[in-house]
Parts: sequence; C-alpha cells; structure tokens
Amino acid sequence: MLPDKCSVMEEKKQCVNPPEFIVSIVVDKDEYMVGVTCDKHKHVVSGKVHILQNEGKIPSGKISFSQLKAVGTDCIHGNSDDFIQLD
Ligand SMILES: [Zn+2]
Repeated sequence: MLPDKCSVMEEKKQCVNPPEFIVSIVVDKDEYMVGVTCDKHKHVVSGKVHILQNEGKIPSGKISFSQLKAVGTDCIHGNSDDFIQLD
C-alpha cells in the first residue's frame, strides 16, 4: 500500500497534500522506493535523498520520480464505505 500523503515533514508537521510522485532510487536494474511526494516538495525530497545517500543510509543511484496516476475526483461519490457489499 502506498501512503496517502506526501512523505515530507515540515516544521514537524506532516505535509497533507496527496502524493503525486513515487520517489525511488534506481541502481542498475533495481529500484528502491524511498517515499512519495507532492509536486511542491519534489525539490525538498531530492535534496533529502542526496543527504541520505551521502550518509550511506540509502543506496546511491539515480533518483527517479514516477508520476502517480491522477485520481479523478469525478469518480469519488461519498466515502469508500459505499463500495463495501456484505452479501
Ligand atoms: Zn508535500
């Protein structure tokens, strides 16, 4: 399951924006997901990734942002409980 919020914390508050990109590190043919981010925090996340790579906390490789499929708000009617059928 993907988080439903951007992974960035600012001033000790979790960003409440929905994630727009999956952040991953590409090493040879492997891809390591490190988090998700909204468009606004892309640069914050790439800076953070470089810091973590320098500290050896995550593999060094190419950072990649894959756009999440936009969820059309038109498709959402009420809350998700509406879709649960018990019979
Ligand atoms: Zn954000």
